[in-house]
Amino acid sequence: MSAGKIKSFQEIFICPLCKKQMQMIHLQSLVCSNKHCFDIAKQGYINLLSRASSTKYDKKVFEYRRVISKSGLFNPLHAAVSEIIMSQLRSHEPISILDAGCGEGTHLNNIQMEINQKKLNPLLAVGIDISKEGISFSAAEYSDGIWCVADLANCPFANQQFKFILNILSPANYSEFQRLITDDGLVIKIVPEQDYLKELREVFYKGSDKQVYSNSLTSSHFNEQFKLLDVESIRYQGNLSEPLIEPLLGMTPLSWGTSKDRIEKILQMNLKQVTMDFKILIGKK
Ligand SMILES: [Zn+2]
Repeated sequence: MSAGKIKSFQEIFICPLCKKQMQMIHLQSLVCSNKHCFDIAKQGYINLLSRASSTKYDKKVFEYRRVISKSGLFNPLHAAVSEIIMSQLRSHEPISILDAGCGEGTHLNNIQMEINQKKLNPLLAVGIDISKEGISFSAAEYSDGIWCVADLANCPFANQQFKFILNILSPANYSEFQRLITDDGLVIKIVPEQDYLKELREVFYKGSDKQVYSNSLTSSHFNEQFKLLDVESIRYQGNLSEPLIEPLLGMTPLSWGTSKDRIEKILQMNLKQVTMDFKILIGKK
């Protein structure tokens, strides 16, 4: 099924090595005219990395992220992003969304489902991430998308293939975004705001300068690359139940390199809610 989907959209791909168009062969591989060949994995994703990469995210981090995303903690954020996309749609126009840095795929999948429930536009959702573990998770669980292991700095897609590019709590590559977005498309970047997970930050980074988070550099960098159409702030209290504490700690860079006793302290605080605080930057070429 995934291979069939990739075949129907094979024209969006280019070879990451030589930039030539790709073609699906025997529902097994994408091959370019120079015979560079990339196989579809049995989970249904395609690995288009030109060389192997090592990322610091291991499988456990993606498991944690999935538990958190499925818990509904990000639902208001997903709804806000879906609204932005739907507000741009003309009736029946097919749309394509790229999630650049999609991790284990839940953000993209939730946004896709939200739009599919309300709009009839044919929707192509493509998620890429450099982590094979993340993409493998995505493909195994969400068969509605096309999932690719790929390098954000060398995206395996032809120019102007996407009407929307999402970049959710993840590093960007703006020159590739410029190349891939259609002339009337939108780049939607989500960055954490000052109070994002502040209950955790207060414990972990007490007394250090990391306690205060600033995204002003990220925002001004975005501004230099795209014409900023709008900025939306979204802030809410997310409900936490006890089984969510460990995955929440495990999925966030906050807890990396932090001492065990501080992690223990968080667990003992018995947090019932955590602050979710984001800024949505919306830009076009
Ligand atoms: Zn090639």
